[in-house]
Amino acid sequence: MAKLEKADWWTIRRAQNRKPATYTCPFCGGFLPSMSEHVLIAPEGDTSRRRHAHTACAAAARKAGRLPSRDDWLKTQPKQPGLLARLLGRRA
Ligand SMILES: [Zn+2]
Repeated sequence: MAKLEKADWWTIRRAQNRKPATYTCPFCGGFLPSMSEHVLIAPEGDTSRRRHAHTACAAAARKAGRLPSRDDWLKTQPKQPGLLARLLGRRA
């Protein structure tokens, strides 16, 4: 099993590669020809650390919760109480 670096959230987009190259999928460790249909994943939107992955592997990882999107991650973060909540809280 290939190793995926640790990140709070990931961006996933369809890869558009016109130059022939071979990548290694970070999920299955398998061979990934650049001209085949696949996706690019980037930790915390940092495209300098993007990885090429099989579409099916990325979809499976998403389903398993190993590839949260930024929205997924934001939902897990504690929310700052808004101004109205603070005012109401003070009165209670
Ligand atoms: Zn794969």
